[in-house]
Amino acid sequence: MSSYDPNNIFAKILRGELPCTKVYEDEDALAFMDIMPRADGHVLVIPKTPARNILDIAPAELSKLMVAVQKVAKAVKAGTGAEGLTIQQFSETAGGQIVFHIHFHVLPRWEGVALRPHTGAMEKPDVLEAHAAKIRAAF
Ligand code: 5GP
Repeated sequence: MSSYDPNNIFAKILRGELPCTKVYEDEDALAFMDIMPRADGHVLVIPKTPARNILDIAPAELSKLMVAVQKVAKAVKAGTGAEGLTIQQFSETAGGQIVFHIHFHVLPRWEGVALRPHTGAMEKPDVLEAHAAKIRAAF
């Protein structure tokens, strides 16, 4: 397994070097809209600690991250009016990982509505912001 690259996209977002559409932040975690959403209201939750994926994150940091994932999941469901949720985490290239700073996908789901392709089309910033506003209001 490779080591953590501090110049990955999410590390740059954490340092404020790249923008994101934020929905939640606490001492340990940041949550923002996925730029290529697989569902309306697709949010990513990342820890502030540098970790590549599920294989190298310290258990105590993972525990804190999962508390944030649950908090965000509840807000995503309430804010989007989803009927259910899918939570995903990809580790290493063979596992489907593209950005090497650990993150959990929170995907709102509706009966009979399929997920769009992973890293498919980029969403317009105003559409992401509209979904983010509803999710923020649900915390
Ligand atoms: P994964 O590493 O879990 O396979 O996929 C990375 C996820 O990050 C994808 O869903 C992709 O759409 C999203 N993503 C990639 N680059 C950016 C970015 O610059 N900003 C945001 N908000 N999401 C991104």
